Amino acid sequence: MSSLDTPVKYLPGIGPKRAEILAADLNIVTVEDLLLYFPYKHVDKTRFYKINELAPDLPYIQIIGKIVGYQMVGEGIKKRLVATFIDDTGAIELVWFQGHKWVQQTYTINTLYIVYGKPNFFNGKYSIPHPEIDPFTDDQSFRPALQPYYNTTERMKKYFMTSRWIHKLMGHCLEKYLKEVEETLPTYLIKSLNLVSLRDALQSIHYPQSIAELKKAEYRLKFEELFTIQLNLAYQKSIRKKMPSSLICRQVGDLFHSFYQHNLPFELTNAQKRVIKEIRKDLGSGHQMNRLLQGDVGSGKTLVALMTMLIALDNGFQTCLMAPTEILANQHYESFVRLLQNLPINIQLLTGSTKKSARRQIMEGLSEGTTHILIGTHALIEDNVQFKNLGLVIIDEQHRFGVAQRAKLWQKNTSPPHVLVMTATPIPRTLAMTLYGDLDVSVIDELPPGRKPIITRHFTDLQREKVIALIKREIELGRQVYIVFPLIKESEKLDLKALEKGFHQLQKQFPPPQYSLCMVHGQMKAAEKDEAMKGFVEGKHHMLVSTTVIEVGVNVPNASVMVIENAERFGLSQLHQLRGRVGRGADQSYCILLTSHKLSEDARKRMHIMETSNDGFVIAEADLKLRGPGDIEGTQQSGMPFELHIANLAKDQQILQMAKDIAMDIVEKDPLLNSPENVKLKFLVSKTRKENINWSLIS
Ligand code: ADP
Ligand code: MG
Repeated sequence: MSSLDTPVKYLPGIGPKRAEILAADLNIVTVEDLLLYFPYKHVDKTRFYKINELAPDLPYIQIIGKIVGYQMVGEGIKKRLVATFIDDTGAIELVWFQGHKWVQQTYTINTLYIVYGKPNFFNGKYSIPHPEIDPFTDDQSFRPALQPYYNTTERMKKYFMTSRWIHKLMGHCLEKYLKEVEETLPTYLIKSLNLVSLRDALQSIHYPQSIAELKKAEYRLKFEELFTIQLNLAYQKSIRKKMPSSLICRQVGDLFHSFYQHNLPFELTNAQKRVIKEIRKDLGSGHQMNRLLQGDVGSGKTLVALMTMLIALDNGFQTCLMAPTEILANQHYESFVRLLQNLPINIQLLTGSTKKSARRQIMEGLSEGTTHILIGTHALIEDNVQFKNLGLVIIDEQHRFGVAQRAKLWQKNTSPPHVLVMTATPIPRTLAMTLYGDLDVSVIDELPPGRKPIITRHFTDLQREKVIALIKREIELGRQVYIVFPLIKESEKLDLKALEKGFHQLQKQFPPPQYSLCMVHGQMKAAEKDEAMKGFVEGKHHMLVSTTVIEVGVNVPNASVMVIENAERFGLSQLHQLRGRVGRGADQSYCILLTSHKLSEDARKRMHIMETSNDGFVIAEADLKLRGPGDIEGTQQSGMPFELHIANLAKDQQILQMAKDIAMDIVEKDPLLNSPENVKLKFLVSKTRKENINWSLIS
């Protein structure tokens, strides 16, 4: 046991209670954990502002001055303590909503203080709410020039475990234990990349002497974090590629050819052709395919899936396709049956609502090998679904499934089946590199010909009349319309109410018999839902009013208007997905974003991006910048398999690219990391610090 494993409770000033809180709230148990708890920012405390230099929209700043008086202002929850704070150039207000007594006792009148905070500008006056205050003395050596800030929790604050407290604790920890820290990266990398040592990096991230030193430390730690991930991914991939697979698709046979000649309803796009070639090569390679197919909504991934299946069938394997919703599984099933007409292929559908007797028959067909294609929802992964010889698994809208669910499909044959995962949620490049780093990636970057770009417009509640007029015009032209209401889990009931209310209002504006409307939401019975959807698909209803259940996959080429209510409540990727439901035919289509007329700056930006771009990848990048990687669609549901502690996928793209290139290069030269110079790297792939990640399951 190295002394870095020493529990933090033995550090000065901690004790059992605080140690318990550190463990529970921050997952810090040992000295090592503490050393690796990085500040989220550093503030330059060398620059001081004068009050007459203040301007609106300044970040956090510090001012030297004195409090000349206190005053209680306001009533009820608005009740606050206001101090007048002056320097030789002017006066501002310091404001507290809590801790009034303590503040007045602690900060005395006419004493020089350094006040730190973010100034607000309102009614011609500046004020700083809940400022940080330090006494001002001539000797400022106790204040670090670059003050680190550590995240803390509410509970920690109650026990006076502030950011500064952590910083002080870190000081003790560094003094006593830094010399025990061992380098994690091989010397050749440190030299060639000009990195600082791990010890120096830890010292400087917590106690930087200068900005230059801090930057070097950050660079080294970010690189290590991203490199560790990339090395693990590259290592897994290289192991997979070495392992032989018995599922080899040597030829393209009768089914594929016959489909191509007689059943293919249109010419494939060049992108579709290219992707099918990439897949064919994988299937015949003698190793398991593990490929991600990325393509914007409407780019024709389904057809690629189908033709991939035909290759597997031609080689005597069974295949399955898993979709995230019943509606989508049904739709795939129906279009597959239609497209595969007159071919000797047995297709079955298995979902949660498949009847028992039918289910039994399907199971029989699967185990005997008479069923060739199985399409379904996650009902497919249940243990009693056994294939005779499953060779290929396709997962549609894969971001809807968790890692564990996908892994279960791997186990449906003794040799893991080939895997193709498809997604229309464009993922920023950097995120894809980390999330799907061990997958090969194919991209359909071309839409089928003849599609007109969708026109997107943002309207506020006050302009609803215009929207109604546009809908009426389109319906007169024979088109159909989607109206989508937001649905957020926590407020499901409220959202349902809003949907129903919206539906009744629309019924008044679009009365029968001239108009026919239908409604779909998550709390309806599957049968009712399907009936409404089916009616809409068949053109019986002019308008489908729904929650986001239609978000993924549905295909109604005659629909030309997508109206999104409360669009400000949706993320960019989700808006883009919804928009992709229209524009699937030859007609001009419209996406209408309806919002309240009061909008946050952020929401306004999102609406603007939607109005100006139709490109899923541009939108995904913008989303990453606006919301940060943790919130990107597709990572919430399936969960990021790991947490980043210091690197940021939006800001550190260059470091990430470099880390990836280096990791790939190393694994290419030394696939099992067995050479002596890579001893440290072997350690990085066998043990990932703190997190307990099973890298072999990340796909
Ligand atoms: P997605 O990639 O979003 O799953 P789909 O596979 O549902 O897209 O395809 C969208 C629509 O485009 C479907 O109506 C499909 O029949 C049509 N389509 C697919 N490929 C082509 C093509 N090469 N030419 C014309 N239309 C196509
Ligand atoms: Mg699709």
